[in-house]
Amino acid sequence: MSDKKLEEFTKGHEAFRSVNFKQNEERFKILAEEGQNPKALFIGCSDSRVMPAMITNSKPGDLFIIRNIGNFVAPYRPDADYHATAAAIEYAISVLELTDIIVCGHSHCGAIGALYKDIKPTKENIHTLKWLELGEAPKKIAMMSVPSTDKAALLRYTEKISVVFQLENLLTYPAVKKRVEKGELFLHGWYYDIEVGLIEYYDDEKYEFLPLGSKSKTLPSKNKEGKQ
Ligand SMILES: [Zn+2]
Repeated sequence: MSDKKLEEFTKGHEAFRSVNFKQNEERFKILAEEGQNPKALFIGCSDSRVMPAMITNSKPGDLFIIRNIGNFVAPYRPDADYHATAAAIEYAISVLELTDIIVCGHSHCGAIGALYKDIKPTKENIHTLKWLELGEAPKKIAMMSVPSTDKAALLRYTEKISVVFQLENLLTYPAVKKRVEKGELFLHGWYYDIEVGLIEYYDDEKYEFLPLGSKSKTLPSKNKEGKQ
């Protein structure tokens, strides 16, 4: 890390100590003593522009967060490999006993964009390309639904439909399926537009994404392609 970046992070930490930590000091103390009891598991993209706590105005201890490239959920597959996302899902459901899982996709997602690029496999991207296979099924549906000439619309559609596929993948986990069927666990599909700061939720009766909360309805919706 360059000295300049380190200096910025150091100053940022000092600001956190003097402002944010002080404001939440009592809360941190209770969380340290009593342990965490988050309100939901949030599965979001690693993208630096998607900030789960900020976009939901959450406080320390509110969200148990998984972030990975593309906010994908690999299907349940017990084998000898290391599965970070699966382990965190199991922990959230079986140990923390959370009652809500949010899968949050986002606009201008680099992972979704990569699905449409011809990337040659090398020793340096082998895990990335394998992981991106989780977006192939959503991509197929998107290509059947949106004209390929409208690249931005195709990408936005893929980002959204992928969320629905990841919700389906969640149901391959026995612990998730069992609790959903019992009415003890609720799955939510969200989509965050980074350009306008708007979250939409997936309505599984209307099969569409709608603004989350009445205030969101006043915000404009854009559909531009941008830097990923
Ligand atoms: Zn992304």
